[in-house]
Amino acid sequence: MDPVKLPTAVTSLFTDWKTSQSPAFLIFRKYAYDIAETCVHDGASDDKFEFFLHKSSPNTCRERIKDEAANRVLSFVSSTLTDGFTKKKLGKILQRSTSKSLLEMSRQDPENRQKNENFLINLKRKLCLELWPDDETVICTCGQQMDAWGDHAFCYKIITKTTMSNEIRDGIYRLLQRLLITVRMISTTTQVEKELEGLIKLAPRLRPFDLSVKLDHILGDSIWQTPLRRLGFDVTVIFLECF
Ligand SMILES: [Zn+2]
Repeated sequence: MDPVKLPTAVTSLFTDWKTSQSPAFLIFRKYAYDIAETCVHDGASDDKFEFFLHKSSPNTCRERIKDEAANRVLSFVSSTLTDGFTKKKLGKILQRSTSKSLLEMSRQDPENRQKNENFLINLKRKLCLELWPDDETVICTCGQQMDAWGDHAFCYKIITKTTMSNEIRDGIYRLLQRLLITVRMISTTTQVEKELEGLIKLAPRLRPFDLSVKLDHILGDSIWQTPLRRLGFDVTVIFLECF
């Protein structure tokens, strides 16, 4: 079949972009080379501009421009900051992923809210503010003195990390049980499993996942669009630089 021929009015839209005096093209020519430099990574092509014009994906470009803008703002703020502590923590304070749970969780239904004191601690931790006054000495359950920002709780201590990891695992477990049954992605809560044994034939005692979801394909193809029988999750508490 012959390709569809588009009318000249459409095909000629961009033909004179290099010389056109229309405001859109004037603006485009002014910034296009700089934008191409940001949007196309070094190894992509010998001619970044050609690549930008004909092969780049709008989503990738948007992400790269966003990252570039964020980096520039960060280095500008960083260069004007005089406080050493804030400078050191700036990256962490501005990290978007750690604001999500504070900003995006609906607080409309009081039952779904975090307790006020927990929210306050999480907010202060996000903004790297002291959790308690300077002159107050707080001792951790391990016997050591707690720093004002609570970072000590995230430092590497097998016991602390295991407890934390288990609490997070249990929280996600309860959450998935409620969530998946509500959106009808599972038919019984037993399909959300914790530390399940017997998944590996040769090592039946091994528990490869902290928690897992048994997918129910009887519910229909549109629910789980995957041939997998089970999804497994592992909870990891990451390291934090300690003082
Ligand atoms: Zn401790």
